[in-house]
Amino acid sequence: MKPKQPKQPFRQVLDNNMFILKICFSASPLYILAFILDILRNQLLIFFEHTYGIGYVLESVEYGRPFQNVAVFIIALFILIGLGMIYGAFVNQLISLKALPKMKQKLKFMLYEKARKLDLECYDNPEYYNEFVLAVSEADKQVERLLEFLNKLFTGLTVFITTGTYFLIKDWFSVCFVAVSFLLSSLLMQVFNRLNYKIRLQKNPQERKRAYVNRVFYLNDYAKELRLNPDIPHKLLDKFKAANKKIYEIDRENAKRKFILSFLRDYVFNDFISDVLYIIYLVYKATVLSLISYSSVVILFNSFGRFKRSLRTITEIYPYASETSLYVDKIRSFLDYEPRIDSKKRLAVPGKPGIFKLDNIAFAYNEGAKSVINNINMTIKPYEKVALVGYNGAGKTTLIKLLMRLYDVKEGTISLNGVDIRDYDVAQYREHVGTVFQDYMLYAATVKENVLLDIGEAVPEEPVMEALEQSGFVQRLSELKYGLATPLTAEFEENGVNLSGGEAQKLAISRAFYKNSSLIILDEPSSALDPIAEYQLNQSMLEAAANKTVVFISHRLSTTRLADKIFMLEDGRIIESGSHEELLKLDGKYAGMWRVQAGQYIAEQHLE
Ligand code: ADP
Repeated sequence: MKPKQPKQPFRQVLDNNMFILKICFSASPLYILAFILDILRNQLLIFFEHTYGIGYVLESVEYGRPFQNVAVFIIALFILIGLGMIYGAFVNQLISLKALPKMKQKLKFMLYEKARKLDLECYDNPEYYNEFVLAVSEADKQVERLLEFLNKLFTGLTVFITTGTYFLIKDWFSVCFVAVSFLLSSLLMQVFNRLNYKIRLQKNPQERKRAYVNRVFYLNDYAKELRLNPDIPHKLLDKFKAANKKIYEIDRENAKRKFILSFLRDYVFNDFISDVLYIIYLVYKATVLSLISYSSVVILFNSFGRFKRSLRTITEIYPYASETSLYVDKIRSFLDYEPRIDSKKRLAVPGKPGIFKLDNIAFAYNEGAKSVINNINMTIKPYEKVALVGYNGAGKTTLIKLLMRLYDVKEGTISLNGVDIRDYDVAQYREHVGTVFQDYMLYAATVKENVLLDIGEAVPEEPVMEALEQSGFVQRLSELKYGLATPLTAEFEENGVNLSGGEAQKLAISRAFYKNSSLIILDEPSSALDPIAEYQLNQSMLEAAANKTVVFISHRLSTTRLADKIFMLEDGRIIESGSHEELLKLDGKYAGMWRVQAGQYIAEQHLE
């Protein structure tokens, strides 16, 4: 995608910068005020010391003022500067330490909250995902950029007003020199910032690739695979190298333009026009025309640099704010995203298990892509135990994602007790479904918190223990020194525990038991368990779920055998359905699969 530089109206730039300012101000109003006051204090003191102060001392020497007066002046100035420094340290070394993380946290929490509510399809769209990653990764920087913006704004204006007034009084024509370099630099800065933004956007996909490789090498999840498959690291390093090469090419492509722009701005427009031409002008005025004193030459030239810099700072304010605004735009459009999976009617979800009907449903992940669910009709009665079977890619996981409204069907309807599930309150609806995915995640939190999925909530231990018992985790729990309070993963806690695949799976399953849901969905709940554990789990699962409806996906047909009804899927369609016995009688694909698995099982038993 070729990044295009959007032209932003002034109002939008202002709005976006105000947006960040409001967030920062509401997080830490005192700091923002103290920060602005410190900038004003600093610049006023600099003016007082370098322009007024040096001018006073030089003129005292040139015109012979009493030494005593000069000495008192210098000491008073020195004390004032000291006091100012103490205030500056207080603001920048003390208040900022607390305020800065607080402001960043506020913005990050807003983003996290939104990320949590994003429709899953946002993750399937690489362009959207790219923008989302950019928004989150740039959030911290925008807080820093806002402070820099305030710094530029107040520094620029204070110096401009104080030094500008001084120039107008002393020698108004000097201002023309500054004005010329000001106009030219301001134009160039705009071009420069746009170029930087374009480069950043171009580099973004490559930087994501680098970040991915980085993650693979440090995350525990990949450690085993990396050791067992020596080719993967090489391939990843090649990817990293390729991304680096692309980044280098982008930088190289733009290096010449960047150099020319900065050379024009710094050397031609600033150094030559203001320094060389201006000093010639001042010396001419003092020596040939005798219109100004020698002290004035020194002070004017000395202040000229600062005046010039203040104008440069002023020229930077708007482009800087525009660049911030471009990023803030992304953050805001992310925050403004309204989840499509919502409900207009927000009907209350029935508390008891109800009847699910899937009427001719179809679904594709992307617009125009091939349907992965085709014309499925299915009825799931209350308290029924339903198994979905089929080879990889048949559409089983997609079907349960539709059932729990992580996606919405493209055609047809899914209803619960005759009401389209899209009419129920979506949060409440999902709350009534206890799901364990194949790719479930355990969190760096205690065992109890991992069951509750509500960190820090004060809940009695009893129901948690009950859920752990039903999933068969209690035995492992009794070996854990800190019981329910045992921290999981050794990433943050010294005494943190890493669970085996099967143990972790049992723990994840206990979440579904703990949740007071009327429908339990299990995506290959026993894939990491050994056959005995699987048998025990299935027994206890069915016992515990007697008063719930259960839909589960399993590859082990010994598990699906326990189901009241089995649906066999292929290419997103139901090709066979019925009880285990009925399907065996049918002697179709399910029966074929069963024979292969039963054969394996018997062979395994013979080997033992
Ligand atoms: P199963 O659970 O039976 O193995 P899935 O429901 O996971 O099958 O996948 C069905 C089809 O949908 C597969 O072709 C898979 O590649 C595709 N698919 C799954 N998830 C996504 C996704 N997030 N984006 C695009 N296609 C997907």
